[in-house]
Amino acid sequence: MGDILALVEHRRGEIRDATFEVMTCGRKLADQTGSRLTAVLLGSDTDAMVTSLKRHAHRILVVDDPAFKDFNNEFYRAALADIVAREQPLMTLVGHTAYGIEVASALGAELDVPFTTDCISVEMADDRPVAVRQVYDGKLNERVSFREAPSYLVSLRAGATAAEEGDADGEVVALETPPLPDPAHLKFLDYIEAVTGDVDITKADIVVSVGRGIKEEKNIPLVEEFAGAIGGVLACSRPVADAEWLPKDRLVGSSGKTIKPKLYIAIGISGSFQHLTGMKNSDTIIAINKDPEAPIFNEADYGIVDDLFKVLPALKNSIAEMKQ
Ligand SMILES: Cc1cc2nc3c(=O)[nH]c(=O)nc-3n(C[C@H](O)[C@H](O)[C@H](O)COP(=O)(O)OP(=O)(O)OC[C@H]3O[C@@H](n4cnc5c(N)ncnc54)[C@H](O)[C@@H]3O)c2cc1C
Repeated sequence: MGDILALVEHRRGEIRDATFEVMTCGRKLADQTGSRLTAVLLGSDTDAMVTSLKRHAHRILVVDDPAFKDFNNEFYRAALADIVAREQPLMTLVGHTAYGIEVASALGAELDVPFTTDCISVEMADDRPVAVRQVYDGKLNERVSFREAPSYLVSLRAGATAAEEGDADGEVVALETPPLPDPAHLKFLDYIEAVTGDVDITKADIVVSVGRGIKEEKNIPLVEEFAGAIGGVLACSRPVADAEWLPKDRLVGSSGKTIKPKLYIAIGISGSFQHLTGMKNSDTIIAINKDPEAPIFNEADYGIVDDLFKVLPALKNSIAEMKQ
């Protein structure tokens, strides 16, 4: 069987977390199929990145060229198509990220290979890959089999797999830059950082996050006072940011910030995968929700199943007593 290829995603010379998750899945597939996990690194000044990849892959194909300094879908697609055609991998894995989705859909169309998106895992069943995806807002998992093909393409949801340490000692193979589109239609111009307000939630040790369960904007101060009482900063889920009850820079999740505080308290938040992606690596997670079946409790270390409008005043009083 062919190797498992994994596309390395990087930004400003740093490998993105999603890549190590993709490689963890790739190593498991390689073990199951008796093949190798081959990382594909398209970058510029790649030495440091290669060093951090070595443990994670059995082989690292490196194209080091200024054309790959920043993500450019035209160049990535052309280089990957060339590498996939030559390597004939069993499967190519990419992160289901903004970059990954863009390049993989173009690649799938160009190579005419079956492409399954936003998978939470991939495994082998009777020598054929089976991908697992979530449907109905994460309530059900579906198993997707592929039409028979020489090669397959899968994008893996960021945050769905924990990145594990590898113990490989990847062989590094330098490749010539494949022919790139000329003239190119896309040009990388600049990174534009999201505006950060007066509070940077990525730097806080304690984050108190509020969701739709708070019901109305006028109730936000209840959570804000609680956050202040325990020395935390206030963050939120998407409905709260969309309603502009809190600014967008407080949003936690796939379309907001990814944070890893010492303590994350989720109040009136159900725990959608888009939200969990942004906070599941917090050291300790406490959830307050009146629904015992809320998915947030699957991630929480401690949970309070009750009405937040009862719980928060009680907690605030206890803290005030403790401080006396
Ligand atoms: C492309 C895309 C990107 C997205 N990105 C993000 C993102 O970055 N971050 C994000 O958060 N979401 C994101 N979402 C939205 C996400 O799918 C969910 O809709 C959202 O996370 C739900 O927010 P919530 O948990 O606050 O609300 P809900 O899912 O409505 O949950 C509210 C919770 O409050 C509880 N509750 C209600 N009343 C009380 C009470 N009195 N006491 C205690 N508990 C109570 C309920 O039991 C419920 O569990 C994205 C969606 C899409 C499609």
